[in-house]
Amino acid sequence: MYGAPSHWMRRWAGGFPLSIVSGQGARLRCADGLDYADFCLGDSGAMCGHAPEPVSAAVARQMSRGATTMMPGEDSAWVGTELARRFQLPFWGFTTSASDANRAAIRLARLVTGRSRVLVFNGCYHGSVEEAHVALQDGRVVLRSGVHANGVDHERVSRVVEFNDLPSLEAALLDADGDVACVLTEPVLTNFGMVLPQPGFHAALRELTRRAGALLIVDETHTFSSGPGGYGVRHGLEPDLLVLGKSIGGGIPVGLYGLSRAVAERVWQEVPKVNPALIRQSTHLGFGGTLAGSALQVAAVRAVLQQVLIAPAFDHMFAMAADLAQRARALLAARGRAWYVEQCGARVELLFMPEAPVNATAVARARSASLEALFHVYCLNRGIVITPFHCMLLMCPDTREAELDRFIDVLGELCAELAALAPEGTGA
Ligand code: PMP
Repeated sequence: MYGAPSHWMRRWAGGFPLSIVSGQGARLRCADGLDYADFCLGDSGAMCGHAPEPVSAAVARQMSRGATTMMPGEDSAWVGTELARRFQLPFWGFTTSASDANRAAIRLARLVTGRSRVLVFNGCYHGSVEEAHVALQDGRVVLRSGVHANGVDHERVSRVVEFNDLPSLEAALLDADGDVACVLTEPVLTNFGMVLPQPGFHAALRELTRRAGALLIVDETHTFSSGPGGYGVRHGLEPDLLVLGKSIGGGIPVGLYGLSRAVAERVWQEVPKVNPALIRQSTHLGFGGTLAGSALQVAAVRAVLQQVLIAPAFDHMFAMAADLAQRARALLAARGRAWYVEQCGARVELLFMPEAPVNATAVARARSASLEALFHVYCLNRGIVITPFHCMLLMCPDTREAELDRFIDVLGELCAELAALAPEGTGA
């Protein structure tokens, strides 16, 4: 329908995507036989690197033994224990995407609070989640740009607050309506430039949600790149529900939602109210899927957690990201380009603005669609792939200095060409 299997794949700068013949580690090869250093990594879906051997082997083995049975196996117990150990939440469920896991988490939050509204932050992205397709405009909830209206009254189901804006958050959570079921947030906004939380933001968010009786859903689909237990474990967040996806399946479609013990207890209290004959988990909670938790998914997640995205791999990815960020900053300073480079774990973001943005509105104000498009096409034409929707560069366990060198060379070339056209400060 779109000349590609998904309409997303048409969204590359230049109007059409590359046709890829193979990926290996941090490299891609296109149909023209050209090689690319891949910093997009399937927008984090390939954070394990392309074709990670342990996942390929586990998936092949599981396919030969039966991919899906609607029953658990030995890997399920191992994965459940490891998820609890790493992410410090005791109960987990599988879905087939992070979008799906977010929808499940929202449904659970509504189920246990009996409230309907979902609060998100401006500039958020949580996948195909109706309640999160919103933005803030002049203090009002509007449909986020690029999403088509579909008859849903988003003002009724959602609230939007600027990230890092605690007074507005407090007002939205503690107003007279008291109808917010949950706050759904990434620990760091990674889908609209990159916006880091200001000191104290997460502690205050946690305190306010508790005071308001709303649950806190932390979406670590991207920020799993911040460590073996994600950003949350590293920074002491205490989510009620946690969402993972993309890289956790090593390329196999997987979403995961984790529940705190307190939330699980509340779910189990609700279940018999619907049907007293049902106890604990034996009910249809209104989400899930036939292939959710398949043996194939579980085998892939086990391989990722046991052999690929393990502590030494994160150490390497952080070192690469720090090196790339530091070299890019030094280069931009030497060339007089007032662009900002942010790093968070294995992720680096280039922003065409002089300082760290405090929220999505600051990113939007500084955004230049033409400069971004130029940057993406310039990189693609010189063998570098970065995330198409903004300028994010992600490391994988196979990223090496050679990929960093290539990016720094290309960034230097671009700065030189821009300077020749119009030196910095002339409005170019
Ligand atoms: N959460 C976050 C933070 C994301 O960035 C995305 C996708 N970019 C999703 C959820 C949804 O993931 P998927 O499209 O794989 O469902």
